[in-house]
This record gives sequence, C-alpha cells and structure tokens, in this order.
Amino acid sequence: MASESEYLEVTRLAPSPTGALHLGNVRTFLVNWALARRNDWRIVLRIEDLDGPRVKPGAIEGTVATLAWLGMDWDVGPIVQSDDLGPYRAAMAALAGAGLAYPCELTRAQIEAAAAAPQEGAHETPFPAALRPADVGPRKFDGEATNWRVVVPDGVVEFEDGFAGVQRHRPAESVGDFIVWTKRGQPSYQLAVVVDDHRQGVTRVVRGDDLLDSAARQTLLYGMLGFGRVPRYTHLPLVRGTDGKRLAKRHGDTRVDSYREKRVRPERLIGLMAAWCGIVAREKPEPMSASEFRERFDLRTMRAEPIVFTADG
Ligand code: GLU
Repeated sequence: MASESEYLEVTRLAPSPTGALHLGNVRTFLVNWALARRNDWRIVLRIEDLDGPRVKPGAIEGTVATLAWLGMDWDVGPIVQSDDLGPYRAAMAALAGAGLAYPCELTRAQIEAAAAAPQEGAHETPFPAALRPADVGPRKFDGEATNWRVVVPDGVVEFEDGFAGVQRHRPAESVGDFIVWTKRGQPSYQLAVVVDDHRQGVTRVVRGDDLLDSAARQTLLYGMLGFGRVPRYTHLPLVRGTDGKRLAKRHGDTRVDSYREKRVRPERLIGLMAAWCGIVAREKPEPMSASEFRERFDLRTMRAEPIVFTADG
C-alpha cells in the first residue's frame, strides 16, 4: 500500500448513521472502496451525522463495524461531522460576508404557495426567485437558529460524470436558492459535504445517482467558497425494489445487520453485489470476498439501468 504522501487521489466513504446500512448503500460503498484500492486512492471514512434524524447511541460504531465486517478498510477516520461545527460556521461566514447567503424564515407552506405547480417527479419545490429578498448583500452570519439560503445564479452547471457522462443542470430552475444552514443550528447536507470534501482533500466522489443533481449544487458552492478544483464525480445506478423505488424498509429487511444476525457470511452478500455489478451472471451469484470483488470489479461492465433487488436475490 502507498504511504500517505504518495496518494494523488483521495476519496471518502460517507455513511449516514441514521439507520442500519442496507444492501443498496453497501453496494455503493463496496464499489467506491474497490475503485479506491485498485487505483491507490486514499480513503477517508466520514460519518455524516448532521442534517438527518437524531443519531441513536451506538449507530456510528455499528456502521463502522458493518463496513469492517464486510472486509472494507480505510486510511483516515472515522471523522464524525458533529464533532466540530467550526469549519461549517466559517464557510457560512464567508458566504454571508460575500453577500451570497441570506437568512430565510419562510415556511414550506409559504414557499409552496408562491411556487408554480410542482413539476412531475421533482422531489422538492424549487424556491421561487421572487421570494429572494431584494436587499441581499454582505452581512454577518449572525443567526444560527434560522434557515439560510444561498443565492443561486442563473445558468448551466456542466460537468462530466465518471459513470453518467456529461451533465448539464440548471440549479436556478430545478431548486432555486437552496438551504445551506438549517434552523436546527447545523449546516445542510449540501454545505457540509462541500466543506468536508474540500478540507479532507477529496478528489474523487463515488455515490448513488440519487445525488446527481446535488453535484450541481455542490459545484456551485465550490466556486462561491473559492475552494478550487471540484472533485470528479461518479454516480452509480441505485439499487431499487421491484416497484422501482429506492431500496427501503418496505422492500423487506435488507439491513446488512439482519443477515449478519442470521449468520449469513459476508462473502454471500458480496457475491450478490458482484452479480448486481455484472462481475458474475445475475442468475449465478457465487460467494466472493471483498478482496476478490476488488480485483474483479470493472466499472465498464456495470449496467446503466437501476439494479432491481428481489427478495430471492
Ligand atoms: N451520506 C450520504 C449517504 O449515506 C452520502 C453523501 C455523499 O456521498 O455525498 O447517502
């Protein structure tokens, strides 16, 4: 393994310890891990415990133990976001000081009332430009118990995704001024990820394609914060249930821990993921260790359509 200073690229495994890891997010971590170990990227393990439901005691340790049980490892961390909010506050001070963020006390109902009819399939109501206060300008970041929004410029954000190809997004239309700080006194997911990816030197982000449109927002924040080079993104097709929805509780108990409790070996789970990823035939999963997965995984044999989980594999 390369010593720390020899790594040219850095990636992160960024689990949210909000529920136990399930087969869908573990598949993404496994691919991320395999790409990193194959290409000598340094791996930071980052626990994303902000901006979600309150983390239950033991959830962080459980998440870390599950990744290790499957055979994954990392070079730095676990780094827990909630341990130090200072860097996120500093980023907010910079955005506010540059006149790029403003406090917003509007409720969701008020925003929805002002918005055009919701677009089919959109997960959130875009924040209407007309609701941005007329007097946004440089100010202090002085209200941690309020939502703060960032001023999203008109125009196209373009980047080339390592799996999904060339992307063109118009965040001003699709989301509008989005929240960077929440009234719970914490950075939003979008801000926390950008601050962390930057300070942890992340150059490679591999994650599910439910976050593809977040990449455009994060690219904007990189620019506004003067953070320089944006990581290279690779967004993988999500694992979904037979109803087409992302894998969740209603599809049965797909928590890795419940397989572990039933004494299923990690090799069987990894074998299933290998079949999902096109390493072996879907009809013939075979047990496989994490290191064998790492050797045999190839991004090019991964299909672009969503992977469908069926209870019998
Ligand atoms: N914490 C997020 C998750 O578990 C990942 C966020 C990211 O990779 O940017 O889905």
